[in-house]
Amino acid sequence: MTAPHPTFKDVTAARERLKGIAHRTPVLTSRKLNAQVGAELFLKGEHLQRMGAFKFRGAYNALTVMGPEARAKGIVAFSSGNHAQAVALSAQLYGCKATIVMPHNAPKAKLDATAGYGATVVKFDPSESKREEVARKLVDETGATLVPPFDHPDVIAGQGTTAAELFEEVGELDYLLVCCGGGGLLSGSALAARAMSPKCKVIGVEPALGDDLTRSFKTGSLVHLPGVPATIADGARTICGGDITFPMIRALVDEMVTVPDAALVDAVRFAMLTMKQVIEPTGALALAAAMSGAVKVSGRVGVIISGGNVDAAMLRWILTDDAERAATPPA
Ligand SMILES: *Cc1c(COP(=O)(O)O)cnc(C)c1O
Repeated sequence: MTAPHPTFKDVTAARERLKGIAHRTPVLTSRKLNAQVGAELFLKGEHLQRMGAFKFRGAYNALTVMGPEARAKGIVAFSSGNHAQAVALSAQLYGCKATIVMPHNAPKAKLDATAGYGATVVKFDPSESKREEVARKLVDETGATLVPPFDHPDVIAGQGTTAAELFEEVGELDYLLVCCGGGGLLSGSALAARAMSPKCKVIGVEPALGDDLTRSFKTGSLVHLPGVPATIADGARTICGGDITFPMIRALVDEMVTVPDAALVDAVRFAMLTMKQVIEPTGALALAAAMSGAVKVSGRVGVIISGGNVDAAMLRWILTDDAERAATPPA
């Protein structure tokens, strides 16, 4: 078990564990983008990571650290998104059992993708029970280990390997823009930045509709949103930061900004039509912050593209011309 607050040493250890297992994803550049933003941008392409998002890094690192005895008793996670697939794939690689708790009305594509990696999907009715309770019951009954999506030291250390690879490849940066849901990726990225590029300004980016950590960062106390935010950035619909991630973000991050969903649409379209890259709306948060001017950047700027798992209906909606796009996005 790693100490509750991970350090850069834990990021370095995670890199060793992920060597030859996680992809070393490419760093993408675009002259057109640089001209538009007025800075030199380096995009770390985690949409090209295994299972389509950086989440594989944290999940695999956590399963590795817990060791063979714990793994043999099985893994439990609750998620309807990329964390579910990350845990399912990591468990498959270790040949251990994963049970993923998902709402019964989760999109079929996500249920199928998770089951496709060999995980058992346990569906529950969100109107009747809380997913945390369903997961807790599974843990109590089987002795399995719960792997949370962001508020866990080994998950955070694993996510930090993304930024560590970026700094190793391109050298020190003036800014690092990182999308933020529960803050696992941002906390880990900040650890890497403080060690590998100490003068780099680390900026967290949330959807404007799901700005809990931006408000928490500014007020100094953890803000809970009243309900699940209706942003198209479905990987950042968390209503509250974590007991580990929030203090880390307060201590290590320079600024938090938000972007409206319309800026995510513009960024996903730009990535698709100009850079030929398929990225999901959540994966475009940091790019959207640079392109929209939500944060004024200059010099050398790192941008983490966090994932690419977007379904056809959402992609079709985003690629429809502004004048013809339906007012509400597909569910
Ligand atoms: C989970 C996720 C995020 C947010 O990560 P946190 O560690 O919860 O802040 C961002 N982008 C994608 C694609 C994700 O799957």
